Amino acid sequence: MKVYNSLTRRNEELVPLDGNTIRLYTCGPTVYNFAHIGNFRAYAFEDILRRTIKFNAMKIKQVMNLTDVDDKTIRGANAAGVALADYTRTFKDAFFADLKKLNIEPAEIYPAATDHIPEMIRLVETLIEKGVAYKSDDGSVYFNVRKFPGYGKLAHIDFDNQRTGERCAADEYDKENVGDFALWKAWEESDGPVGWDSPWGRGRPGWHIECSAMSMKYLGETFDLHTGGIDNLFPHHENEIAQAEAATGKPFVNTWMHCAHLRVNGEKMSKSLGNFFTLRDLIEKGYSGREIRFVLINAHYRSGLNFAFSALDDARKSLARIDHCTGELEKFAKTSGIDGGETPPWAAECLDDFAAAVNDDLNLPGAFAALFDLVRRTNAALAKLPGETFSASKALAVFKRMDEVLGVIFFGNETPAEPVPAEVADLLNRRAQARTAKDWAESDRLRDEISRLGWQVKDSKDGQTVTRKGK
Ligand code: AMP
Ligand code: ZN
Repeated sequence: MKVYNSLTRRNEELVPLDGNTIRLYTCGPTVYNFAHIGNFRAYAFEDILRRTIKFNAMKIKQVMNLTDVDDKTIRGANAAGVALADYTRTFKDAFFADLKKLNIEPAEIYPAATDHIPEMIRLVETLIEKGVAYKSDDGSVYFNVRKFPGYGKLAHIDFDNQRTGERCAADEYDKENVGDFALWKAWEESDGPVGWDSPWGRGRPGWHIECSAMSMKYLGETFDLHTGGIDNLFPHHENEIAQAEAATGKPFVNTWMHCAHLRVNGEKMSKSLGNFFTLRDLIEKGYSGREIRFVLINAHYRSGLNFAFSALDDARKSLARIDHCTGELEKFAKTSGIDGGETPPWAAECLDDFAAAVNDDLNLPGAFAALFDLVRRTNAALAKLPGETFSASKALAVFKRMDEVLGVIFFGNETPAEPVPAEVADLLNRRAQARTAKDWAESDRLRDEISRLGWQVKDSKDGQTVTRKGK
């Protein structure tokens, strides 16, 4: 499996650093509002990446953070006059519900920034000890970009002609305003009740330090893969590298991947431009999560994708073609009685094309071409029945194998598993964190709490799974 690495700007073979499990960190949502479908383009791309890694028989450990304290969440909570945690909870819950509607597989761990303030403070302390960070007069702490020689290696910036040397307190800024960035921000009037005590006084972490601290906690000081939308590349990911590598002296991440933006009339879909749709908006208009997923993944992740309702209407037609074909195939499978036969050669050929496409830097247009070729050839084979027969179950298995990556095909005799309620999902997430921290007492306590809600947790070396009791 080859992917394009934004750091080296080359296609490279993806091989687990520890020979076993790909450790993946995906920058998650800032929970100050409902995520829009531009955000979900990024999460859908990461889902395809995750599924393709598994398709290639590699193991995966994915961490997606929840940014529940930053400039935007504080502004939102204070404007609404509610506590930060209450404000962000609504959007965390909505986020998990939306992921489910889009058939995005859950990550192994969803750490929230506000649960990891001590780790962030420790990392900032290390950076001060190493001489790459300093305290300013107001009690904030800044990273001195001149002290880290590798600064700019991800964004490929030539700093000799550009560096302004100014300080930037905001979380987000552009390449023209590069300068020392905030690791810890001193409390200000506008922060209201939000703040934590630190060696530098009351304050809160900067956005960038959140991801360095949480990724290294759960994935180690050096890990395989880190992804996000292209807007995360600078300054967020550049700063993450600087913080982590200056602190540990080791390479932070092997491969960086970034998806292009979902656009509307040529402009990035974003909250600030007001040109966005949330998943809820589209579902209210009568589109399904499956149709929306189809549109989001049916373009190469590094190509721009322009959002249009006509694409959703086309998705409906394409999915109907697939459903008709798999439906007929299932009917034939029930009556044909041929179970042990060979995979039909035309289906095997389509699967080879499919695998080659997904393994070539997640070429999803190529993968869908292979799927529709399979539909066409299956229909042709069904039309030749009963004269020329073939193994329906083996042909169906090829559809299922492709769907391990795509996640858009329905199979008639599948009964969907009962969805895990948000309350149970939250407890499971907290339990995963307790187990990573080797807090077994807390882990047992959470298992009992989950059990009281009627769900049973099982632990294996791949993590925890949950089933409804008595099923
Ligand atoms: P945010 O909640 O703003 O931190 O963004 C969450 C994720 O969505 C990040 O990985 C962003 O890069 C990504 N993102 C934001 N807007 C878009 C867009 N229009 N198209 C694709 N990805 C986006
Ligand atoms: Zn991040």
